[in-house]
Amino acid sequence: MTLGLTLRSAQGRWTSNASRGCSHGSLGLFVPASPPLDPEKVKELQRFITLSKRLLVMTGAGVSTESGIPDYRSEGVGLYARTDRRPIQHRDFVQSAPVRQRYWARNFVGWPRFASHQPNPAHWALSNWERLGKLYWLVTQNVDALHTKAGSRRLTELHGCMHRVLCLNCGEQTARGVLQGRFEMLNPTWSAEAHGLAPDGDVFLTEEEVQSFQVPSCARCGGPLKPDVTFFGDTVNHDKVDFVHKRVREADSLLVVGSSVQVYSSYRFILTAQEKKLPIAILNIGPTRSDHLACLKLDSRCGELLPLIDPR
Ligand SMILES: [Zn+2]
Repeated sequence: MTLGLTLRSAQGRWTSNASRGCSHGSLGLFVPASPPLDPEKVKELQRFITLSKRLLVMTGAGVSTESGIPDYRSEGVGLYARTDRRPIQHRDFVQSAPVRQRYWARNFVGWPRFASHQPNPAHWALSNWERLGKLYWLVTQNVDALHTKAGSRRLTELHGCMHRVLCLNCGEQTARGVLQGRFEMLNPTWSAEAHGLAPDGDVFLTEEEVQSFQVPSCARCGGPLKPDVTFFGDTVNHDKVDFVHKRVREADSLLVVGSSVQVYSSYRFILTAQEKKLPIAILNIGPTRSDHLACLKLDSRCGELLPLIDPR
């Protein structure tokens, strides 16, 4: 088994894992430093996967940092560590038109870049596991559609997806790409530059830029539009939560990939797995809320490790 993998970054630059610090290209920008791959740990994960017949995988922001999307919580490189910005709160968005205007202005600028991110070797590996019948169900906390882009279908997007837009009034669902065209028509002379990118596609703009931005409303009923994602302070749809608990109970093992499992809605799936006495493995750089429940913990890059595992 060779550990000298070559990874391809989102921008197409080729990088070797021999320089696995945080300093090279877009790949290293948002990925925390990790220790060298331990061949023994790789073997242990291989054994875990081989023994599993109905594997449930739960992914978080850590699986997408290697695609150039920053997470919130990673030490040193996450948004919480690098900036004083915090994610939008659900109640602020729903209650305030100026908050929605600011949100959509930033989202409009950040969208082309956010939408252009591509799956990395971890997304492709999980999609391959599904194709070969190894992966029973995939649950993601991410809203970036990278699992879908990689071809995963047995998938629950726990917190929704930025590629869909929802009317807060009538519930009409539209594609985010369509809304971009409406933004452009309403704001023909408006321009602003992106000053940074957050996990939800947000960017930073001045008040002046924000206030002149025109926000379209629902084409069907005129209601306010919101990305089809669960903002902080909102709760995940109960039916969706029940559905995932059911999938966890039907599974025979659980692998966490790139999540610190800090969000309670995800942590409780781990608790369900524990109640069912499922073996739990965790692949995440840095400690997680569930380390004490795992039979196997790996601090490695998802895109470096997962492609090494043979799912057959
Ligand atoms: Zn509507």
